Amino acid sequence: MTKATPIKFEIQSQCGEARAGVLTTRRGQIETPVFMPVGTAGTVKGIRFEELESADLDARIILGNTYHLWLRPGVDVIKAAGGLHRFIGWDRALLTDSGGFQVWSLGALRKISEEGTEFRSHVDGSLRFLSPEVSMEVQAALGSDIVMVFDECAPGQASHEETERSMNLTARWAKRSKDAFERLQSEGADTGRIQANDLSGRQALFGIIQGAGHLDLRRLSLEQTVNIGFDGYAIGGLSVGEEKSLMFEVIEDIAPRMPNDAPRYLMGVGTPEDLVEAVARGVDMFDCVLPTRNGRTGQAFTSRGKLNIKNAQWANDSRPLDESCRCSVCQRHSRAYLRHLYMSGEMLASILLTHHNLAFFLDTMRGVRQSIRSGEFPKFRREFTERSSISE
Ligand SMILES: [Zn+2]
Repeated sequence: MTKATPIKFEIQSQCGEARAGVLTTRRGQIETPVFMPVGTAGTVKGIRFEELESADLDARIILGNTYHLWLRPGVDVIKAAGGLHRFIGWDRALLTDSGGFQVWSLGALRKISEEGTEFRSHVDGSLRFLSPEVSMEVQAALGSDIVMVFDECAPGQASHEETERSMNLTARWAKRSKDAFERLQSEGADTGRIQANDLSGRQALFGIIQGAGHLDLRRLSLEQTVNIGFDGYAIGGLSVGEEKSLMFEVIEDIAPRMPNDAPRYLMGVGTPEDLVEAVARGVDMFDCVLPTRNGRTGQAFTSRGKLNIKNAQWANDSRPLDESCRCSVCQRHSRAYLRHLYMSGEMLASILLTHHNLAFFLDTMRGVRQSIRSGEFPKFRREFTERSSISE
């Protein structure tokens, strides 16, 4: 009998580089390719957990942010509540990032050394220190089902030399992350431990490939990461200011070289069109704040491109946001009403737009999976791209 693993990943259909499969976690099965709504501070902004679980959305996995939860409410509060799942009331799968990206995006406010990163908290201005070991401790206390290594990100236009230095630091931090992670697992520090699906019951740990827009460094980073050995692999450091064409060049080169039998996660990307294009290049998992953030600023994603609810042209429009969307918002409300709510500053505007946007992202991935399974993904991709470029 083989040793039980924290997750299982099975590819069931392939269409070119696009893969459809099932990721089994200790908190349920997730069909891939999958979109993961972002729950920064222990909440997917503007939507209740019941809605995330409803047939409309049926989100199987959401994200939590280590950086934000560590600073507020802090590890002690979440530990006392019995872990992040119990604290927020979510029994499905959770993935936590390492905090590396948030600290990196503080820019001049942080100081990076071999040991880790020193920075000032945006909550109370206190001096804090985040390292691979601290990040693993926090993620064990959160008890997420998938943990990310602590990495460093080079800017989109970083030079070869600067990127190489950063990438090598990421590799050393990945090794330290794994060592700390293993120790914490054996000490029982994981608050989310649960025996299910013939799995080990432990947290899973994903490595992150860096290297900015330099393909030689990306390949080297992939090799370094795979040599350490993880349960899944992510492409980090994209969508950070580089040209979109370069982003897809990196994905196209790297994704197919990533281990075939492990999930491939593209971090922080992107629009529905980006998701479909990345699936075509072999990616299985995505997260992005766009559906929730844009929902709060009055922008809807639809099958015919983006729609700005503020525009006067919707003032008397009785059609739903998206005539081909089956979500409960589109079944019930008109563009005219949504525009009225938005213009009146009603909180329901954000709530309804967020709901529709998440439904649209999740439904797009449902369509992607079906088309891969039926061998019609190229047709789906072509039609999706043509429709979304119409823009009303
Ligand atoms: Zn809708």
